[in-house]
Amino acid sequence: MTANDPPFDLAETLTRLARLERAARPLEPGATRRRRLRDPVVASAEKFLRRIDTLKAFADTEDKGARLLESPISESGLPIGAVLESFERDVVTPGLNPASAGHLAYVPGGGIYHSALGDYLAAVTNKYAGIFFTGPGPVRMEHQLIRWVADLVGYPAGATGNLASGGSIANLIAICTARDAHGVGAESVRRAVVYLTNQAHHCIEKALRIAGLAAAQVRQVPVDDSFRMRPDALAAAIEADRSAGLTPWLVIAAAGTTDTGAVDPLAAIGEIAKRHRCWFHVDAAYGGFFALTEYGRDALAGIETSDSIVLDPHKSLFLPYGIGVVLVRDSHAVMATHHYFANYMQDAARETEISPADVSPELTKHFRAVRMWLPLKLLGVAPFRAALDEKLLLARYFRAKIAERGFEVGPPPDLSIVTFRWAPAGTTTEEANRVNQRIVDHVRRDGRVFLSSTMLEDRFTLRLVALAFRTHRRTIDRALTVLDEAVDAATRVAR
Ligand SMILES: *Cc1c(COP(=O)(O)O)cnc(C)c1O
Repeated sequence: MTANDPPFDLAETLTRLARLERAARPLEPGATRRRRLRDPVVASAEKFLRRIDTLKAFADTEDKGARLLESPISESGLPIGAVLESFERDVVTPGLNPASAGHLAYVPGGGIYHSALGDYLAAVTNKYAGIFFTGPGPVRMEHQLIRWVADLVGYPAGATGNLASGGSIANLIAICTARDAHGVGAESVRRAVVYLTNQAHHCIEKALRIAGLAAAQVRQVPVDDSFRMRPDALAAAIEADRSAGLTPWLVIAAAGTTDTGAVDPLAAIGEIAKRHRCWFHVDAAYGGFFALTEYGRDALAGIETSDSIVLDPHKSLFLPYGIGVVLVRDSHAVMATHHYFANYMQDAARETEISPADVSPELTKHFRAVRMWLPLKLLGVAPFRAALDEKLLLARYFRAKIAERGFEVGPPPDLSIVTFRWAPAGTTTEEANRVNQRIVDHVRRDGRVFLSSTMLEDRFTLRLVALAFRTHRRTIDRALTVLDEAVDAATRVAR
């Protein structure tokens, strides 16, 4: 005690403790109160799901949810009804509806209900998923899932991995591991060469920068007419760099590019990477789980020759956002980069099981395994496989139908992305670009389906991605109807 501390008064302390406990009591609702909170939340979710077929895929609202800010966080709480009303109006409604069947833009997924129940259990039990010592169950569950994915892509027993928050962090883990496995550091970074294509996801470049590799040489290997990396060009680039005294060390292929769904020729690339002793990384964030299908296994052949792979369950396994898988062939390599020891962790350090915190930048993490485990346990793999086969077929169905209508179509899809544009003979690129911009704007304002666009070379190109689990044949037919109307409107303006 110092002179400034008031003398310890037991009676006063007990009174204050009782008062504070009472004031904090709302943090622990009883069974009745829990039901009064849960029922409206479940009712709101049920209302959403009952109406999911009629909700817009994109709601272009005026205020973009700004009314949320009219109700600031305050000292005392509000009734659940008022809070849910704002949530539905200001948060759920505006912008993209990623749960919609009509979400055919970017790379959708959908968010299966079973995962929501898994998240509920994860949050209520709040099990610790970062360290085996404190969370043996969650960690075993994560390892079981990682092993399931590793078997799916043909990785050996020595491989390990992590359930990260998404593809970006999963790619970062792989790239940091590759960097350390090849000893790329301050001295050598300027001579170190990375090979990818101009179709690589931007998170790769971001990861290189975060990993301290901004000064590395990055070669954009030329692509073929289907936007796939050309192995001959890769080999030539590596050889030229070697002759110039540089150090090729990392080859990054895509198993399903974000723009067009192109799958790089993985077997040929893997062979070249191996010959030149480069780390071979495959970004299969979009396409990875197509390995559940027979078609996908063929399309992804060679993926098993890689050193690391990223797959996003919140894309091609239809889970809600917030889960990405990284696999690393050599568990020692990923541990070398991410493992750590601290004195306050000494009780945990006696365990021999790999902990997720040893292979990821995260220590404490969301118990995200259960959102993947519960649906797989409850449903088995069969419905996922069927849904993925359905998406592959829907993309081919859409491409045939859109070509019939006179659209110019891109290359046959490797997976489930179709590129197309309205460019009747005699239109200049500039005219076509303007018309296609109007088409995609029209589709967004209409909102029944949502498509996105991209630039392929200098051509403004429309994309349709069949990946949301709710997307079925009738969704594609609806997209065709909306596109017919959009072309009508866009060309009427032009005339
Ligand atoms: C979506 C995607 C990413 C990024 O993953 P996030 O989960 O959005 O962080 C990386 N690569 C590819 C090929 C993708 O499609």
